[in-house]
Amino acid sequence: MKRLQLISTLLIFTTRTMAWRSSGSSNAELVENLRKYRVLASRRAYDAMMAVDRADFSPRDPYQDAPQGIGYNATITAPHMHAAALDYLQNHLVAGANALDVGSGSGYLTVCMAKMIGNTGTVVGIEHMPELVELSKKNIKKNNRELIENGNVLMIEGDGRQGFAEKAPYNAIHVGAAAKGVPKALLDQLAEGGRMMIPVEDKYGNQTFKQIDKINGEIKEEVVADVMYVPLTTREHQLNRR
Ligand code: SAH
Repeated sequence: MKRLQLISTLLIFTTRTMAWRSSGSSNAELVENLRKYRVLASRRAYDAMMAVDRADFSPRDPYQDAPQGIGYNATITAPHMHAAALDYLQNHLVAGANALDVGSGSGYLTVCMAKMIGNTGTVVGIEHMPELVELSKKNIKKNNRELIENGNVLMIEGDGRQGFAEKAPYNAIHVGAAAKGVPKALLDQLAEGGRMMIPVEDKYGNQTFKQIDKINGEIKEEVVADVMYVPLTTREHQLNRR
């Protein structure tokens, strides 16, 4: 509980504050700082972030603890949010698991999830901008080509609000963009005992990061932090957003 409070306190502060704290001059230094400032607590999430170089996915300042533009009004999410998401999902990103990354953007988190699951499981990344799907595949192939070749990672173009029924149910679902409400399709595609982490926006425009567990068929929701993500929306709305 103490750690949750710390994370949400840190997240409520501006990205700039976080940027000063956790940024590094290399991937290892960034990840080490995230651990040092207790944003990253899980050993397995730490190992995954150490193994995936953000420079393959971020067009600039890959080791700064801040989001970076990747085109099409999208960003690669800030490292502290990637760390928090992997931490919350750690017990569901285990050997052989089946996972879904909605709004997969640069492909960075999809690869981290795949590293935690290992070569007996699958992560589906779903992204609605075709150009970003291509970009993510290119990014992944720089140093993690085998994940795509062996089918451990599947990058799909589609509306993530519908999930990806073909590969459901999912033990872990991560949503990388803020939804107006929790999409029903994603709840339906969450496996029994599974967990979804999703930023949700209320009618005032405030966003919270929600942890959603399916236990004995029942949905249990918990707000873990205040956050700021790009919207989970239509392609048109995203491209015309200012
Ligand atoms: N985890 C990604 C986050 C990228 S930002 C990363 O760190 O790189 C959020 C992404 O969600 C954007 O790429 C955006 O294009 C995508 N997105 C927004 N609405 C979507 C929708 N309805 N379906 C699928 N992807 C969507």
